[in-house]
Amino acid sequence: MKKIIVQKFGGSSVANVECIKRVAKRVVEYKKKGFHVVVVVSALGGTTDELIELSNCITDNPSDREMDMLLSTGEQISVALLAMAIHSFGFEAISFTGAQVGIITDKSHTKARILEINTIRIKQELDSDRIVIVAGFQGVTLDQHITTLGRGGSDLTAVALAKQLKASECEIYTDVKGIYTTDPRIEPKAVKLDEITYDEMLEMASLGAQVMQARSIEVAKKFDVPIHVRSSFEKDTGTMIIREVKRMEDVVVRGITLNNQEAKVTVCDVPDKPGVAARLFKKLSFNGINVDMIVQNVSHTRRTDISFTVKKTDIPKTKNTLRKFAKSIDTGEVVYDLDIARISIVGVGMKSHHGVAADMFDSLAKNKINIEMISTSDISISCIISKKSANKAIRALHKKFQLINN
Ligand code: ASP
Ligand code: MG
Repeated sequence: MKKIIVQKFGGSSVANVECIKRVAKRVVEYKKKGFHVVVVVSALGGTTDELIELSNCITDNPSDREMDMLLSTGEQISVALLAMAIHSFGFEAISFTGAQVGIITDKSHTKARILEINTIRIKQELDSDRIVIVAGFQGVTLDQHITTLGRGGSDLTAVALAKQLKASECEIYTDVKGIYTTDPRIEPKAVKLDEITYDEMLEMASLGAQVMQARSIEVAKKFDVPIHVRSSFEKDTGTMIIREVKRMEDVVVRGITLNNQEAKVTVCDVPDKPGVAARLFKKLSFNGINVDMIVQNVSHTRRTDISFTVKKTDIPKTKNTLRKFAKSIDTGEVVYDLDIARISIVGVGMKSHHGVAADMFDSLAKNKINIEMISTSDISISCIISKKSANKAIRALHKKFQLINN
């Protein structure tokens, strides 16, 4: 039986006609090598954002169902164009929407979860020796509503298909060579990793690394689907995302991430008595505002400040929510700081090493960088610092923890 390979190409890999032809060539190469090839494609680079802007020109508050109907068109364009490009090289290929290949999801429009994939149709086409091209990021509910899987969701389509088809390989093609110790545009000494664990990749993706959608890594981990992240512009191998890597425990910090998407909100002069914080955060959550880090200062005066971070895009909603509410629970003013950055160090080795946080804080202090908030997980430590110090912090930490490819 022929081996199945799933190859996913992101928006930057199919940004224009030339790129689409390059992708077609790569796909055909694997077909010639004897694989059954299933290709998952994102919308042409920038298309999804443009569609969102378009909807914003019509209304501030589009229905989620219609948003899915709109956004799913981006991928429909790229699959058709890629099929044509493959045909022009003399190979057989057929494109499908998510619905056509039986990617069944729940009903949560704009962030749907895959419930099942019926692979009969794909297998039939593979058996007829065709290259199968599937629109990423989309599915359909049992009652025929088109859904999308959240931004970056083509990764999830690819991983789920790889699992369901028992593919021997799942390749994620992008515009960088693989996963780096940190963003090479900020630290030129950043190096590409040959391997990284699911846990580390998941943490890095959640903390700001842009390369892969976090949920797709969760699914890959759950079903043990090894992923190869690599560049569609080069032949070199990229980074393998796997369960365990060599010398796993020896490496304290595998990567450093930067997240510029958050803002800090400080509610000043909050009465220091039971129930106030609960009311504050209940109110925020009721209004759909996701709060991340929270810090409450020690109170000496029966009044205290509470700071927390939210997504920058949620700031208008937060302002609306707190304008009246802050007064109603008798707090002082609310201060918003949009010029913050979250710097995180990530590594499974942290579990078995001590002093990592101290080293991180020490390195920031030596560079005169003030830490405004701290949070930790089993395998990461994050600090909120001022945005203008972010790049300096990353370079300092990269040096301090001697990040290399191991
Ligand atoms: N086109 C979608 C997005 O931009 C899905 C993807 O790229 O994976 O989020
Ligand atoms: Mg993408």
